[in-house]
Amino acid sequence: MNLEQTLTSKLDEIKENNLYRQLHTVGKASEKNTVINGKEVLLFSSNNYLGLANHSEIKKKAAAATKEYGIGSGGSRLTTGNFALHMKLESTIAKFKSSEAAIVFNCGYMANIGAISSLCDEDTVIFSDALNHASIIDGCRLSKARTVVYAHNDIDELKEKIEAIRPKKGMIITDSVFSMDGDIANLPGIIQLAKDNRLAVMTDDAHATGVIGKTGRGIAEHFGLSAGDIDVKMGTLSKAAASEGGYICGSSNLCDYLKNTARSFIFSTSLSPASIASAAGALEYIDTHPEIVSQLQNNIVYLNDALSRIGIESKNQTAIIPIIVGSEKKAIDAFNSLFNMGIFVPCIRYPTVKKGEARLRVTLMATHTQSDINYLVECLRKVI
Ligand code: PMP
Repeated sequence: MNLEQTLTSKLDEIKENNLYRQLHTVGKASEKNTVINGKEVLLFSSNNYLGLANHSEIKKKAAAATKEYGIGSGGSRLTTGNFALHMKLESTIAKFKSSEAAIVFNCGYMANIGAISSLCDEDTVIFSDALNHASIIDGCRLSKARTVVYAHNDIDELKEKIEAIRPKKGMIITDSVFSMDGDIANLPGIIQLAKDNRLAVMTDDAHATGVIGKTGRGIAEHFGLSAGDIDVKMGTLSKAAASEGGYICGSSNLCDYLKNTARSFIFSTSLSPASIASAAGALEYIDTHPEIVSQLQNNIVYLNDALSRIGIESKNQTAIIPIIVGSEKKAIDAFNSLFNMGIFVPCIRYPTVKKGEARLRVTLMATHTQSDINYLVECLRKVI
């Protein structure tokens, strides 16, 4: 078989298993009322959790940065792509996260693979939650460290695995909010185990920043921990911060080391002025408008209550509320029916989640109204 025949046969197999994926074209800004594949829909699928991706004040900052600095940065951070804007964003992030320093990567995926592969090596044991994001998994693979996967959020199993190995050098890595399940890591338990066993802790606050904690600072604020309890705090600028980019924050030493060794930082052209300025603008906006975080948190409580009235149990305190439907076919049918009713909720299937655990993944935004949520729940009742 030549390459084309091989690809056709593999694609046929994917289709037969109801696992074929297609791109949807979004015709307007990623706001709650948008247009997908030409149809007006109510969007319950965006990571634009605080509704800032089309915010006029923040867009003005992006436009001003483009006017002053141009479109592309023209180089990597260590060559000619480091503007005052990049430095300002790093200090804004560090302040937002109560950290000594921050380093910005081009996306969250690159922050995870760059940091993990730079901080861990063949002599490291990484303890990684079974449901960690793919970028953490890929970072572990790239690092060549021994990676020990523990059952999802299972502190007892994590303790057993650490005690069975007692590594000289090790790190526990966890999503703060798990991207497909929307639950929150038991970070106090993880930190205690790390202290007892002299391990470092790394968290991925991608879905936690702007969402959990009274003022949206993420998992440390949620549990009332000090930012210094977490050695490596990763986050992304592409979700509540409404732009693009990823970051690591922690000690100045940590960020300095990553600037010198993280390959995804060193060998890639830095983010554009518009992205950088809008990310900084969004973080400043969240800082001065904590009410948008409360608005999102109120919507989460409202949706959970409404779901329980139609017999769907959900206790998530985050913007990600999965509704497990089981088979891949059932999930696709539910997705299509919702789309016909004017609601866009993606169905998530294997390999993103286990086979037979296909789900509709609802994500909430601060801008959804109670009547939007009521309509979603009414439609879900009809299709599930
Ligand atoms: N970590 C988690 C938990 C994520 O969900 C994502 C994005 N889906 C990333 C990292 C990667 O972030 P980015 O999209 O900025 O590359």
